[in-house]
Amino acid sequence: MKRVAVLGAGTMGHGIAQVCAQGGYGVVLHDPSVEALRKGLDGVRRNLAKGVELSKVSPEERDAALARIDTGDSLEDAVAGASVVIEAAPERLPLKQELFRTVEALVPPATLLATNTSSLSIDRIADPLEHPERVIGLHFFNPVHIMALVEVVHGPRTSDEALDESVALVHAIGKEPIVVRDTPGFASSRLGVALGLEAMRMVEDEVASPRDIDRAMELGYRHPMGPLRLTDLVGLDVRLGIAEYLHQELGDHFEPPEILRRMVREGKLGKKSGEGFYDWSDDG
Ligand code: NAD
Repeated sequence: MKRVAVLGAGTMGHGIAQVCAQGGYGVVLHDPSVEALRKGLDGVRRNLAKGVELSKVSPEERDAALARIDTGDSLEDAVAGASVVIEAAPERLPLKQELFRTVEALVPPATLLATNTSSLSIDRIADPLEHPERVIGLHFFNPVHIMALVEVVHGPRTSDEALDESVALVHAIGKEPIVVRDTPGFASSRLGVALGLEAMRMVEDEVASPRDIDRAMELGYRHPMGPLRLTDLVGLDVRLGIAEYLHQELGDHFEPPEILRRMVREGKLGKKSGEGFYDWSDDG
């Protein structure tokens, strides 16, 4: 049985551990926080129990997946014998660089080092390593056990073997890979944010109401959810941060519209604050 080490047991890491275990991999989940590790494992158990309740997972599959997940107390234990290491640690470049540098000293050169970064450059994460050709992005989506897409992000130095192995892994765990060059926003954020920003400019220009702009995409283009409702769910502050980064990296068409800046200033952050492009005050 091939082994995957998942580093970080938070929102993303526990889901990645779960889908790898369901895909037949032996998994070691590691987190420097004992509390985060406990919560992560609870999350896996809860997701699988829900899967059984909805008849999406059989009780046997649940038990087999849980039996394949171990926890590693130390980083060294966690990566020992792993053919793939997937990091889902906080989104900070120095932290990810340092983590992979430490891991590199513990594993053979053939071990794939995958990062779940949602915005950092794969090449920069790989920079301090002796073998940058084995570093790749595996960008999962939240919630991992539900979302089908994984962006496989290859840097200029990523080897063909690492790319092939990553695509095969994504297929093996029942997800859909898309192959993306290491560029700001990859494919998903770049396109999703572009649509969201244009929808906001249309609200500014009073082209239509937020609801009708969303319905244009939902009914006319079969998007499951319009760009403004999605922005409310993601959080306007989060979207503004990504837009500012893409503006700086990719140019003026990502310049955040004034309406977005104003709403963030006013604390209208979307669902989490009770108001965004929609009124969420009655919602939980
Ligand atoms: P999170 O804060 O929920 O979890 C991060 C975990 O990493 C924490 O449990 C923390 O204790 C642990 N950690 C801290 N230092 C570590 C280290 N040195 N080694 C291993 N673990 C360490 O964060 P998250 O939302 O799961 O995000 C993790 C990564 O996934 C980030 O790079 C993020 O950009 C990316 N991502 C997040 C989402 C999302 O919707 N949350 C979606 C796609 C990608």
